[in-house]
Amino acid sequence: MTRRDAAMFPPDVPFVEWSPEDGDRDEFFMRRALVEAALAAEEGEVPIGAVLVCGNRIVASDHNRRERACDPTAHAEMLVLRSASNFFPSWRIEDSELFATLEPCAMCAGALAQSRVNRVVYGTRDPKGGAVVSLYSLLDDPRLNWRCETVEGILRDECANQLRQFFQARRKRADLS
Ligand SMILES: [Zn+2]
Repeated sequence: MTRRDAAMFPPDVPFVEWSPEDGDRDEFFMRRALVEAALAAEEGEVPIGAVLVCGNRIVASDHNRRERACDPTAHAEMLVLRSASNFFPSWRIEDSELFATLEPCAMCAGALAQSRVNRVVYGTRDPKGGAVVSLYSLLDDPRLNWRCETVEGILRDECANQLRQFFQARRKRADLS
């Protein structure tokens, strides 16, 4: 654990925790983000999932809820930041890592920088809206006062396939109607 130790988190929350016997750490957390993304698809939402990790624990996990919440800001990344902020004594969500199935957009990358997340890991690029490498480099811009480590391509094919299948199915339904 980091200095953000377990004491500050509610004891009744069943945290998922990585340990070395679980294999590759980044893949372990990305799989949980993929599970969240699958839940989004079941709800008719674009399948994007995210988990926030502190030490080796998932302290928040969620998925895109934009349609159901009728909220343009209800992206998976925003939702995990909001729920993690309940645990943190400050607006800074320090010593934490964000795992998302898709490259964060400008809103989410901005929020990740504002919350001082240390590391952002994502599965696949979003050439139409990504703000980490695709359209902007918001997490690695020397003009901004926060830069964090970014890693891309963890379980890339699975993350990309989940999105592709969702849009294929949606197109098929639209053709049939
Ligand atoms: Zn976003």
